[in-house]
Amino acid sequence: MMIKSAEFVTSAVKPAHYPSPDLPEIAFAGRSNVGKSSLINTLVNRKRLVKTSATPGRTQLINFFIVNKAVYFVDLPGYGYARVPAAVKKHWGPMIETYLTSRKTLKGVALILDIRRIPGPEEANLLAWLGRYDIAIILILTKVDKLSKTNQLKQRQMIADALAKNKSELILFSAKTRKGKKEVLDAIEKQLGWEARDVT
Ligand code: GDP
Repeated sequence: MMIKSAEFVTSAVKPAHYPSPDLPEIAFAGRSNVGKSSLINTLVNRKRLVKTSATPGRTQLINFFIVNKAVYFVDLPGYGYARVPAAVKKHWGPMIETYLTSRKTLKGVALILDIRRIPGPEEANLLAWLGRYDIAIILILTKVDKLSKTNQLKQRQMIADALAKNKSELILFSAKTRKGKKEVLDAIEKQLGWEARDVT
């Protein structure tokens, strides 16, 4: 998948604000500060299309971007940030759940994990929940540049075990070196059913 264009479309908190569901869609989820913005920016070859919020967790919006005028990339608000006010935290679950269950054009969710951190109950719950709704998952371990090759492989195995997944399902990625960019785009393309098609 060659990325030729990427533009911000809109921010939403509820379905009435989502763009009309006329294109397939891939959503990106992850803990606050995991590197989700950096990953999306790397995929679309832009420095700051997705802006990193200075105060994580203050505004919890679902941001829609249109890529190649053919697919929406959806940046879901990060979870797990300790200093998020309780009221905002309370809002997160229902907002995400509404999005994930109501969006008919959703083709898959990319879950971004820090390679240095063994996933906890939030990730296990999210994965179990996505499985229950039969939503396809792309698993990405980011910030791999922070570990030696040997430790990357060790961590990948441990994270795979923690999630009861096969290690081959975990894509190693770095926004710093751009390692894994093609693998992530290929995985997205696969979820879109575009393997055999060149997107123009
Ligand atoms: P978000 O809150 O998940 O959107 O995270 P950001 O993309 O804003 O990244 C959080 C911090 O991690 C920033 O300081 C980034 O520069 C850094 N970061 C993100 N991805 C990588 C990566 O692949 N390698 C390294 N070394 N740092 C990264």
